[in-house]
Formats: sequence, structure tokens, C-alpha cells
Amino acid sequence: MKILVINSGSSSLKYQLFDMTSGEVLAKGLCERIGGECGIITHKRPGHEPYKAEPVLPDHGAALSLVLGLITDKELGVIEHIDEIEAVGHRVAHGGEMLKSSSLIGEKELEYLYSIVDINPLHGPPAIKGIEACKKLLPKVPQVGVFDTSYYSTIPDYTYICPLPYEYYEKYKIRRYGFHGTSHRFVTAECAKIMGKPLEELKIITCHMGNGSSITATKYGKALDTSMGFTPQDGLIMGTRSGAIDPTVLTYIMKTENVSAQEMDDIINRKSGLLGVSGVSNDCREIWEAADAGNKRAKLALDMLINDVKKIVGSYLAEMNGADALVFTAGIGENDFAVREGVCRDMDFFGIKIDEEKNKNAARGEFNDITAPDGKMKVFIIPTDEEYMIAKDTQNLVK
Ligand code: ADP
Repeated sequence: MKILVINSGSSSLKYQLFDMTSGEVLAKGLCERIGGECGIITHKRPGHEPYKAEPVLPDHGAALSLVLGLITDKELGVIEHIDEIEAVGHRVAHGGEMLKSSSLIGEKELEYLYSIVDINPLHGPPAIKGIEACKKLLPKVPQVGVFDTSYYSTIPDYTYICPLPYEYYEKYKIRRYGFHGTSHRFVTAECAKIMGKPLEELKIITCHMGNGSSITATKYGKALDTSMGFTPQDGLIMGTRSGAIDPTVLTYIMKTENVSAQEMDDIINRKSGLLGVSGVSNDCREIWEAADAGNKRAKLALDMLINDVKKIVGSYLAEMNGADALVFTAGIGENDFAVREGVCRDMDFFGIKIDEEKNKNAARGEFNDITAPDGKMKVFIIPTDEEYMIAKDTQNLVK
């Protein structure tokens, strides 16, 4: 069975074509600058040089039709005809309160996605555009939505209700939803496999740390708490997002500098976090370089990141009465040994102890067990694979 996985951003469209029989990725790529004067497409196949072009991509439909052309192309393609695609799986950030698990996207589901665009203005419209483009170009092929939020349909009300007048939840569905669920679900399942135990017997804390970062506590197979909230803005400090902050700071800046709500959104989303504090970059590699060269604000940003992760992990250990494993994943989690070392330093009270050499020399892109011999809690690096998870859910739904 061949499954196409689509992840649509506001001006981008990522794709991967899976052969589910072998689990292989046949082709993958990225369309960028959709809607701009000149687009970019990068198309990759295992064992071949990547193909790059700069076509005009007026909308997501144009990008998708180019992708379908490429994957069936005589020279650059990997299948003969688009009829070989049996289903499309879409990454959808927000499934609201209705879409609690991966679902086939019919009229009712699409209508619901439109109805929650208000609470998901950044990620909702591009996801809808991707689904609509696929429905148009592949009308007979089932479309499946895999929602980042659905992993959190199990979190209890005392963790998802915001401490505001209750009517805001009733009127606008303002609550904590949680994001990155597909990644946390994938690495949690991998962690259980590695430990050779059923998920239902394990307490696992997963740290997905990339440009956007979130930490999730999964108790006996069900998400219990997570650091992202109403939007992917909550929780720990991120590349350009502030993470959790005293809410009055925002209203104070808005009043004092006459900043509008939209401008404030932009400040906390794009100009804050590691970039805002360090003044150097949103990329940990560049921030470490600056910190090593003596830049104090760069060091401060990294200290804040490490401390935020410690605090959240500590709070989940309290909520779950301990844990069996701590997992690092995504760009920073998989690659930044110094952040992992900082997070795990002086955590032996909780049974967290890593082998510094194993941590430093952990092979990239692979599973690594970095637990010290006398560490009571397992500490793993597990590469995430959201696309595979989406393909798997899609396969299960259309089978
Ligand atoms: P996204 O959230 O966009 O999917 P990724 O998970 O790819 O992001 O993570 C990107 C981030 O990972 C970069 O901004 C950088 O901070 C970090 N990163 C990637 N590679 C390394 C590395 N070798 N060392 C340290 N940090 C890294």
C-alpha cells in the first residue's frame, strides 16, 4: 500500500510517499515560498541526488500538482501512476475538541476544521488548503487527518481548564489542547518497545525539543499533562517563542508601548525565546558558539532553556509519582548533547543519571541509551518520525 503524507504550512508543503509493505520512504520533499514570486521545490529519492527547481507556486494546489507530477515522472518519479496512491495522510495541528483521534476527512470534519480556525489561525488555514487541494486532485483517494492535539484527549480537566472565568471555555473553547502529540505518541510507543514492556505499565516523560518544543507526561499509555497549551506558545522557552510567561507582562507592554494584540502575538511568537534573550539566533548551534566565545546573553538563553526543561520534568515526576523513562527527541533533543547534559545534571534525587561519554558520543539519527549504570530511570534519545506515524494511522483507517 502506497500512502502519501502531506504537511502543509502557510507557505510550504512537505511530502513523503511511503510504501507501507516495506515501510520504506520512496520519495520525499519540500515546496517552499508558495504564494511568492518564485517557489522552490526539493525532491529527494533514496540513492539519488536531490532534484531542485524554482517554479512559480501560486497556491497549495499548484504545489501538490507539481509533487504528483514529480513522483510519477519517468526520470524523477518513483511510481508509474497516481492511482497507486491508496490514501493521503495529513498532518493537522489542531483537531479541537471533536476530532479526538485520527479520522477520515469528509464534509463534516472539514466543516469542523473551518469552525475552529479562529482558535488556530496560524496552522488551520494551510492544513485545510492541503486537504482541499488533495480532494480536488485525488478525488477518489481517502483523505485522513492526523491531529497533533488528539493525543491529549485523555488529559484530565484539572490540567486543561485555564484558570480564567469558566465562561471563556464555554463560549470560545479556550482550554489547553497540547501539540506535537503525534511525535510524543511515536516516541512513547518506541520507548515501550525498547523497554520490552506494555505502554500500560510505564510512566514516560518525552521532551520534543526543536524550533518549537514541548514536554509530555504519559502515564500508563495515556497522556496526563503536556507543556503546550491553548496554542503551541505555552511551556518552555523555544527558538523564537517565549513559552509560559506572567500574563501581566504582556498587558503591561501593550499599554506602555501602545502595542496591539496582533503585534504582541508577533513579539511572543517570532521575536522572543532563545532569539529574543540571546540576541544571536534561534538555533542552538549558533547560540552555543556565541556562549563559548563569551557572549553572556547567549549563555543566559541556554541556562533558561535547561532550567525550563528541568522544572517541567520535575513537575511531571511529581504528577506521576516518578517515571520509568525520560526521552529526548527532535532537533535539539536528538543532537544537542550539552543541553541533555545540563537537563540531567543534578537530577540523581529522581534517579536520573546519564553516562556523559555515551551522551556526548551518541550516534546521530539513531536510538541511544545514555543511562548511567547506576541510573534508576532510563534516559533515551529516540529519533522522532511523525510522518511514519501519520502514514501508519492512515493505513489503519483505510484498511
Ligand atoms: P522543527 O521544530 O522546525 O521541526 P527541528 O526539530 O528540526 O525543528 O529542530 C531544529 C532545531 O534543532 C534547530 O533550530 C537547532 O536549535 C537544533 N539543532 C539541530 N541540529 C543541531 C545540532 N547538531 N546541535 C545542536 N542543536 C541542533
